[in-house]
Amino acid sequence: MNSDLLDATINSLFPQLVEIRRTIHQNPELSFQEYNTSQLIQKELKSIGLDFTILANTGVVAEFGSDGGECVALRADIDALPIIEENEIPFKSKNDGVMHACGHDMHTTMLLGATKILFANKEVLPGKVKVIFQPGEEKTPGGASILLKEGLLELGQKPDIIFGQHVDPDATVGTVSFAEGPMLASADELYWTLRGHGVHAAQPHKGNDVIVAASALIQHLQTIVSRMRNPLYPGVLSVASIHAGSATNILPEELTMMGTLRSFNNEWRFEALEKIKKATIEICELYGVEGVCNPSIGYPPLVTDTFATSIARTAARNAKGIQNIEVFEPKMWAEDFAFYAEKIPACFWMLGVKPNDVVSMPGLHNPRFLPQEDAMKFGISMLVQSTFEFFSSSLNRA
Ligand SMILES: [Zn+2]
Ligand SMILES: [Zn+2]
Repeated sequence: MNSDLLDATINSLFPQLVEIRRTIHQNPELSFQEYNTSQLIQKELKSIGLDFTILANTGVVAEFGSDGGECVALRADIDALPIIEENEIPFKSKNDGVMHACGHDMHTTMLLGATKILFANKEVLPGKVKVIFQPGEEKTPGGASILLKEGLLELGQKPDIIFGQHVDPDATVGTVSFAEGPMLASADELYWTLRGHGVHAAQPHKGNDVIVAASALIQHLQTIVSRMRNPLYPGVLSVASIHAGSATNILPEELTMMGTLRSFNNEWRFEALEKIKKATIEICELYGVEGVCNPSIGYPPLVTDTFATSIARTAARNAKGIQNIEVFEPKMWAEDFAFYAEKIPACFWMLGVKPNDVVSMPGLHNPRFLPQEDAMKFGISMLVQSTFEFFSSSLNRA
């Protein structure tokens, strides 16, 4: 699409989109409870005459364009976090203890903006566009996996490519960054329970000490990452919580721990999970303690597709006002967009939202996270241009 025309269209829609973003920001809803947000999205789609389907109670999926061509999917996540907002702004969260601290209010608004523009141009689209407003990104098993289970790919035309984006507080407005290949990590939650025999702390020989067993176990767990992993595959295992005991003179009966395992490699990930479960049983046994680790399987690693990334990178070059196109350094965060990327060639880019005049801003999941709204112009532009870029490349490929 002509970038001057697109720019003018976005500018004319922008005041209305800022209103929408502020309404969503002010009324945040937790994962899988996004009923009002879903209603707002449905109302906006109805206002332009676009039919939609509801999946996973609060997810909204719509498809438009012409038959016989390829299909581009665009995805935004719509949920908020259990955080008390500390920003003093006119559109501060009205839902106590819930906040859009991950920018999903902007993701939703940008996809609504892109949908309006693409739908207005539906006659000239040489294929289908499928827009996906997805619930529950912040909570396992992830809204993406539920939408896929509920038949997202079988609904209408199967997408040939999928694009998604995330706001990036480390980059200034006007910056878009891409990672090719592994971008974000898998994330599995680990829950341990150790049961021993509680006794007087002055007579440890009469019991089985869960605290000493846990100490040995934690030391061993670190060797799974440092000694049993190929150093060429990134991975991290953190025990982040440990609870036991109530007094100086009592050895407790039970100890619980929690942690996270992250990696970029599914094969090693599942091997490591098996090693963790086995080590828990066997090391605890040495101390006469019954130990078990119950992992909760989370998101797979997010691996972006080379072709999809080249399309989005060209779109960034064509979009008006994007000054910096950068390389995104892979991070050990996780994102349920990875479920789509396992099934469809995918590109997920990071969109700078830091004001130009500050060195740093509060990051994602911080109670003072406040992205620049102007960045939405570039995010909308990226979604629209990537769509057109893919269609023109598909004409070349035909
Ligand atoms: Zn988040
Ligand atoms: Zn997020």
